[in-house]
Amino acid sequence: HPRVFSGIQPTGDLHLGNYLGAIMNWVKMQETHECIFCIVDMHAITMKHDPKSLARATRELTAGLIASGVDPDKAILFHQSAVPMHGQLTWILDCVARIGWLDRMTQFKDKSGADKEGASAGLYVYPVLMAADILGYKATHVPVGEDQKQHLELARDIAEKFNRDFGVDLFPIPEPFIQGAATRVMSLRDGTAKMSKSDPSEMSRINMLDDGDTIMRKFKKAKTDADALPSEVAGLAARPEAANLVNIHAALSGQTAADVLREFGGQGFGVFKPALGELAVEKLAPIAERFRELKGDKKTLDGILHRGAQQANAIAEPILQEAKRAVGFLKG
Ligand code: ATP
Ligand code: MG
Repeated sequence: HPRVFSGIQPTGDLHLGNYLGAIMNWVKMQETHECIFCIVDMHAITMKHDPKSLARATRELTAGLIASGVDPDKAILFHQSAVPMHGQLTWILDCVARIGWLDRMTQFKDKSGADKEGASAGLYVYPVLMAADILGYKATHVPVGEDQKQHLELARDIAEKFNRDFGVDLFPIPEPFIQGAATRVMSLRDGTAKMSKSDPSEMSRINMLDDGDTIMRKFKKAKTDADALPSEVAGLAARPEAANLVNIHAALSGQTAADVLREFGGQGFGVFKPALGELAVEKLAPIAERFRELKGDKKTLDGILHRGAQQANAIAEPILQEAKRAVGFLKG
C-alpha cells in the first residue's frame, strides 16, 4: 500500500530550499497518505560535527518542521538513531550495493571536496543508509528536492537487486516525488550552487528563522545580473540567478514562473527583489513565530520524537526481520 517516507538532516538551520523543495510537499501529503518523516541524525555525522550542536539541532529541526506544518498526529515524526533498523538494514544493503554505483554519486564528490581520501567511509555509503531509510518502511513515495534524485535512483537499484538476488518480492520500488515551482533552490550568492544548510555563508540562504529585515536584506543583496526580467520563461535560460528568484517567487505565491513573468517582465531587480522579499516575509513570518515559540520546549519536542520512534519502530522491525530471513540469517 502507498506509504511516504522522507528525511532531513539536522546539520544546520532549516532554509527556504528545504521548505520549497521538500517540506511543503510533506505537509500536503500528510493529508492524503500514510507519512513517515525522519530527522536523519545518522546522516548528519558523516561530516565533522559537534555532539552538543547535533542534539540541539535535532530538537530545533523538530520544532521547525512542526512550525512549517508537519503534524505529529497525522504523520510519524522521529529521529533516525532511535530506530535500530536503519543501521542494521544498511549493513545488509551495503552488501547488495556495488562500489561502481557509489562511485557515480555526485553528492559524495561535492561534499568530500578536494580530499576524497580523507572523507569518512560513512559519507561514501550515505546513499545506502538513505536506501535503508526508505526500504526499511517499504515506502512507495519519497518527496525530496531535485538534488536527491540520484540517491533515489540508487535506492531503486538496490531494491531491485535485493529482490532479484534473493528471489523475493520484499521491497517495493520507491518513486521520487519532486514537485513544485522550486525543486532546486539555488544559493543567493551563486546561481550554480544549491542553497544548503551546510553552506558557510549566511547570505547564501534564507533561514526559516530569519526575521523580516534579514529576509529583505538577503534578497536585496542576492547576486544577479543587471538586466530587466524577461517576459517569457525562455528568457531565463542563461540567467541562473534571475531564474532562481523567479522560481522562488512562483513557489511562494503558488503560481508558475510564467505567471510571475507576466507580472514582472520588463521590470528591473530594483522592483522585483523588494516585491519578492515582502512576499517571503508574509509567508515565512508566521512559521518563524511558531518556530521560536516551540524550539525551547524540550519536554514537548522529546515527547513527540519518542512517540514517533515507537510508531516507526513498529513498522520497521518486522520488515527488518523479513530482510534478515531473505538473506539467510537465523532467527536470534
Ligand atoms: P546539507 O547541506 O547538510 O546536505 P541540505 O540543505 O542539503 O543540508 P538536507 O537535509 O540534505 O538539506 O535535505 C533535506 C531535504 O531538502 C531533501 O529532500 C533535499 O532534497 C531538500 N533540499 C535541500 N536543499 C534544497 C534546495 N536547495 N532546493 C530544493 N530542495 C532542497
Ligand atoms: Mg543535502
